[in-house]
Amino acid sequence: MRTQLELPESSNPRIVIIGGGFGGIQLAKELKDKDFQVVLIDRNNFHTFQPLLYQVATGGLEPDSIAFPIRKIFQGASNIYFRMAEVLNIDTTNNTIDTSIGEINFRYLVIATGSTNNFFGMADIEKNGMPLKSLKEALDLRSLLLQNLEKALNDPSQREACLNFVVVGGGPTGVEVAGALGELTKHVLPNDYQELNQNEVNIYLIESNKMILSSMAPQSSAKALKFLNKLGVKVLLDTRLISYDGEKVLLSSGTTILASTLIWSAGVQGQIINGIPINAIQKGNRFIVNRFNQIEGFTNIFAIGDVAIMKEEKYPNGHPMVAPVALQQATLLARNILSVTLSNSWKQFSYRDKGSMATIGRNKAVAEVGLIRFQGAFAWLVWMIVHLMSLVGFRNRLVVLINWIWNYFSYDRAIRIIVRPFVKRQS
Ligand SMILES: Cc1cc2nc3c(=O)[nH]c(=O)nc-3n(C[C@H](O)[C@H](O)[C@H](O)COP(=O)(O)OP(=O)(O)OC[C@H]3O[C@@H](n4cnc5c(N)ncnc54)[C@H](O)[C@@H]3O)c2cc1C
Repeated sequence: MRTQLELPESSNPRIVIIGGGFGGIQLAKELKDKDFQVVLIDRNNFHTFQPLLYQVATGGLEPDSIAFPIRKIFQGASNIYFRMAEVLNIDTTNNTIDTSIGEINFRYLVIATGSTNNFFGMADIEKNGMPLKSLKEALDLRSLLLQNLEKALNDPSQREACLNFVVVGGGPTGVEVAGALGELTKHVLPNDYQELNQNEVNIYLIESNKMILSSMAPQSSAKALKFLNKLGVKVLLDTRLISYDGEKVLLSSGTTILASTLIWSAGVQGQIINGIPINAIQKGNRFIVNRFNQIEGFTNIFAIGDVAIMKEEKYPNGHPMVAPVALQQATLLARNILSVTLSNSWKQFSYRDKGSMATIGRNKAVAEVGLIRFQGAFAWLVWMIVHLMSLVGFRNRLVVLINWIWNYFSYDRAIRIIVRPFVKRQS
């Protein structure tokens, strides 16, 4: 028999939330001090603010300024219990889940496990590419970037490959990483690596579409392209990555690039858990949910955020995989569960899109709020304020703000430390 998770006896119904990301944390906050026993489970003991991962990867921010201990968020909450564990399986017949530390039963289950990298079956990219979905991956990338700059100085035979950086995927993450690399080359390299010729550094952004930031308006996309060009990033549109063996990047145009670093930001998929019937899972590994976030075929098992796909009139292919969707779904789900009325009088979810933005570098960002579009320094300022205010914890906000002010005036990216050298995967 499996070990049962140790939890206090409670007469209140138990809600188990899997995932301490944007959706899971918001839901638990909404249920704080209510008549439910809330058990929040995550494989990490911290919440990660993913939108700023690229700044950790490029030496602009310390990792702990964009992560926050989950236990600290719920200090003093009498009904919330956090457990650090990997959830392995869901038993929908007995309403239990199996985790790396034991089994637990539930009255309600909310899956908020987010998304993971999608390499579209390309084993060579999975082995040799550098993804950017977690704090560990951001730190690996930071180490590899710095290691390659060191190697470029010491090994002339590897110099070209070490100074070519290929970013795949022209969505917000790819654009932001490419822009940050452009700034690193422009402002930091000449001071730290005086022996390296800046002109030898090449940053490529590969995009299979005919435009970058294809979810934004053509004007925003064009402006972002201009900003990237200004930073020296070579954007290759209408081009697909064919293969990467860790040394050579082969593109659909037939071009080959020697590169020791390939950053993969071209695909994500839902992070599902075994046990939910296959007919409730859509292509892209997302659980099909109704407008109450109930997974198809269940009334007490829900999915929210990136791992859920919900169709509404304005979003026939589901919502974008962004933090506001997870936050809004969590808030409404809490209200629905807390309401004592029957499920058919629950409020249906409707996404309120407050806009989108991407930053390319200092004073360079594009933003869209409804029909209003703005670019440049003002968009950059708005981007900074929005991200600063969204971070969890006053300390984190202060640390990030100080770092940004420092970076702005010094043109520096101060955190250029190789703590644990990155070792390339062997298999
Ligand atoms: C590099 C990057 C940049 C981004 N930039 C933006 C942006 O600028 N704006 C924006 O709105 N969105 C952005 N996003 C997307 C945004 O981060 C996601 O949409 C959001 O995190 C989704 O929230 P979630 O709650 O669904 O999942 P997440 O926040 O991903 O949380 C999922 C949690 O589940 C845990 N988990 C997963 N599986 C298990 C398991 N089996 N057992 C235990 N725990 C598990 C994970 O550890 C994680 O803590 C970005 C994403 C990335 C990767």
